[in-house]
Amino acid sequence: MTLGIGVIGTGMIGQDHIRRITDVLAGGRVVAVADADRSRAETAAEKPSATVHDDAASLIAAPEVDAVLICSWGPAHEEAILPALAAGKPVFCEKPLAPKQDACLRIIDAEVKLGRRLIQVGFMRRYDTAYRALKETLAAGKVGAPLMYHAAHRNASVPADLYTSDMAISDTMVHDIDVARWLLDDEVARVRVMAGRRNSVGGDLRDPIFSVMEMQGGVLATVEISVNIGYGYDIRGEVSGETGTIELAEANPVVLKAGDGFSGRVPADWRERFIDAYDREIAAWIEAASAGGATGPSAWDGYAITAVSDAGLRAAETGEAVEVHLVDRPDIYA
Ligand code: NAP
Repeated sequence: MTLGIGVIGTGMIGQDHIRRITDVLAGGRVVAVADADRSRAETAAEKPSATVHDDAASLIAAPEVDAVLICSWGPAHEEAILPALAAGKPVFCEKPLAPKQDACLRIIDAEVKLGRRLIQVGFMRRYDTAYRALKETLAAGKVGAPLMYHAAHRNASVPADLYTSDMAISDTMVHDIDVARWLLDDEVARVRVMAGRRNSVGGDLRDPIFSVMEMQGGVLATVEISVNIGYGYDIRGEVSGETGTIELAEANPVVLKAGDGFSGRVPADWRERFIDAYDREIAAWIEAASAGGATGPSAWDGYAITAVSDAGLRAAETGEAVEVHLVDRPDIYA
């Protein structure tokens, strides 16, 4: 069976997922698209020969749409997810699940009423080979129990007119929150966020920031977010355990030695660094959705990450440690 996929939101990442479903992956075909900007949807529909819909409701109702891939902006995710769930159609939703916790909880309620998972959220780092090896090595007990996890998330630059200080947490650090929870198999109990000397390149932007997440089990997870570091997109992660450390290796496949030095490529951006992870993430979704279900990061993960992000925003504002309060986790997310 080829999964008929309807894509809502055909901007940057929507177009990229259409390309990978059409040109790279097997098992799915983009049969319908919708975007607030109809001409953008029409352009995106050309290569896969998809039909163009004026809104999410008409796309979801189309009989040729078996599953729905949501790539609109965050505040529009809920209005697309709820009717897809009501129609019993599996959903891939780009992060965030929703930017507000109450919207996340409405989505969780709707999925719990169905009694089974239908939603995968786009936290693609879980599909990255290096992060998987980090988790597998930790689980194999090679360094004993984890004590600390240190992450750095460095972007070469961000658009000065669009990127705000809060986005360092709500848009950028959310991936590191996801990794900390997934890697350590634990929830975040409280968060602190500190900002010291600013990078003058970013003007008034609060950059860099340093965050400490205290996990419920006591492990400390630290994250440096630097979004105007110039040299490239540099993603780091290291677990410090009772008997050793495990860190993500450099992502480049070769090291050049020439003249009197050695060097390797730093990825330009997140697309280059995580291209394989995005492919694996969407392949896993197509497989699970074709079987009528969902896999990978869940609506619960989406909710918990939004809750930690909210606490992080308050922590950045107040300078205090902020507690994360989660509702009880429904059994379907056990
Ligand atoms: P984008 O380029 O702005 O594309 C979003 C598209 O959705 C735009 O064409 C927008 O139209 C359209 N849209 C907005 N509201 C809509 C609605 N209610 N119905 C249909 N279309 C609607 O943004 P993007 O960078 O692709 O990001 C999209 C989502 O993916 C965001 O949630 C973002 O956080 C997420 N994302 C995730 C990753 C990742 O690493 N996992 C990376 C990038 C983006 P208008 O421009 O006319 O509003």
